[in-house]
Amino acid sequence: MGHADGFRPCQCKECAALYGIQPTTKPTDGIAFNNDRAWGEKIWIMHRDLALRLMKDRPGKKVMMTSYGTTLQPPQSFREFP
Ligand SMILES: [Zn+2]
Repeated sequence: MGHADGFRPCQCKECAALYGIQPTTKPTDGIAFNNDRAWGEKIWIMHRDLALRLMKDRPGKKVMMTSYGTTLQPPQSFREFP
């Protein structure tokens, strides 16, 4: 799992509030908004949750995740993947 090359975050209120993590920048901040660390954390959490779901649906299988661009920084809200 990974995210799109040249990641551009959604600008809707639901995505801004996803997982209770708020970006500290605004869409009008341009590249700073695209690179806001909140997006990487949201992607990590989403990928972890998908891995948890797949662990139930496909026991014994593995998921590969990429740390790239928006997700270069490791997740800050958790330390281990299932
Ligand atoms: Zn959205």
